[in-house]
Amino acid sequence: MSNQSSIEWTETTWNPLVGCTRVSAGCEHCYAETMAKRLGAMAQADIDAGRNPGKKRHYLNVLDKNGRWNGTVNLVEEALAEPLHWKKPRRVFVNSMSDLFHKDVPFEFIDKVFAVMALCPQHTFQCLSKRPERMAEYMGTLDAAGSREDIADHLGFSAPTMEFRTQDGPLDMTAGEVLREQMSWPLPNVWLGTSVEDQKTADERIPHLLRCPAAVRWLSMEPLLGPVILKDQWLIDPRECTCYEPEYGHQIGCMFHGNPEAARGPWPGLDWIVVGGESGAGAKPMHPDWPRKLRDQCVAAGVPYFFKQWGAWAPDCLCDKPNACRSIKRPSPGPVGCMFRCGKKEAGRTLDGRTWDEYPTINSQLSTQPA
Ligand code: SF4
Repeated sequence: MSNQSSIEWTETTWNPLVGCTRVSAGCEHCYAETMAKRLGAMAQADIDAGRNPGKKRHYLNVLDKNGRWNGTVNLVEEALAEPLHWKKPRRVFVNSMSDLFHKDVPFEFIDKVFAVMALCPQHTFQCLSKRPERMAEYMGTLDAAGSREDIADHLGFSAPTMEFRTQDGPLDMTAGEVLREQMSWPLPNVWLGTSVEDQKTADERIPHLLRCPAAVRWLSMEPLLGPVILKDQWLIDPRECTCYEPEYGHQIGCMFHGNPEAARGPWPGLDWIVVGGESGAGAKPMHPDWPRKLRDQCVAAGVPYFFKQWGAWAPDCLCDKPNACRSIKRPSPGPVGCMFRCGKKEAGRTLDGRTWDEYPTINSQLSTQPA
């Protein structure tokens, strides 16, 4: 099974877990369920033909008869070490087929995932969860382990057994010793994110995310199902700071004064916002003002913005043969007005005439100097 991903903001998926439970309206058209159905059918075909389905066997027992998650979460031990064998640095989406912080994933297993991420400084790991309250609980237990060295020992204990090598040959060190020597904390190559679909989920989930120690904290606002205000609470426009005078700027001592980095928002703040509309059968349209206003809030606060897709519905006829295009004839119902259902590919990903492909500007290479 290939790990390459067509998701615009990542390069590779890594799935040490398979299976999930729906938690909110953003799960209604869960893409992973559809994929699981396909992979389960492939596994069954392998079995029927007398072939070994390999890792695909984990998809056989996760769906009910309606093709929905049945709540089973399989721990895929044999997938754990995969990133350790990828030499070329890449962005890795962790668990596109599950949720790392699902209640049925034991913390001991999450330790193993974090151990692998810590041992792979060449990659950037993008973790995304709809359960940031459990993410915060887990990150709290790691922090409670003590010093950076204690956390390194704890993760090293959970790491898969492997041989470390240099150019000159095998290195006589355990994973714990490697991590003790080179690990920074929080891990600079691990981005922690939560999914937000409307103001209610923003209000519920963002505070939990912001309790997590992380190099990058980010939001995936896809499918975006309503308008969301992040401004003032989680994204600050430095021009609206109370001490700001257009003529003089900020007062000395103000968090924004002379510190362009602080313009990203108050610590701990949000570092990256990804927005996208819903796609697939039954997808709901995204009002053009919703991604636009989020973009404007990000620009004002200096936070990178990534517009992933319009989804199934476009704000306008975007093809060059509108009269020949049969797929755009259905204006959307409800408050969104004149959106057109033309499919994700045709709808594209330009917003007001350009693409928005911004990423957080952090050095995601693990420092050789521990923090
Ligand atoms: S949390 Fe993610 S994987 Fe789980 S049901 Fe919801 S959308 Fe699907």
